[in-house]
Amino acid sequence: MAGTAPTLDSLERRLRKIMCADTTFVRRYQHPNHCGEAAWEEGSKSLWISLDPFWHGELATLLHELTHFALRMDRTWGELEEPMILGLEDALGHRIRASKSRAAWWRRALQAKLTKEGR
Ligand SMILES: [Zn+2]
Repeated sequence: MAGTAPTLDSLERRLRKIMCADTTFVRRYQHPNHCGEAAWEEGSKSLWISLDPFWHGELATLLHELTHFALRMDRTWGELEEPMILGLEDALGHRIRASKSRAAWWRRALQAKLTKEGR
């Protein structure tokens, strides 16, 4: 058997690790017609995420962008990537909303990143 199948739990742990890294930067930005962006350089650990809460909830967008980064660490997914991530964003969002402690963790982590960026 080739490894253990990923779970929502293992995915959330991975996203938390990325979120806590000093090389991850999150800021608010007014995008013209979309809710967020993630940018990173190939071969670099740095990840820049920008969120526009005008268009969509910040947590959902944050999870979405972090998941793009996490999945691409393993391989490229082509046309499967976006629909997979939309589904995962939803599932992760439900999981976090259902738990006060998870919700508090993400709220704190997001606030810490935004504060670090001076916003
Ligand atoms: Zn996307």
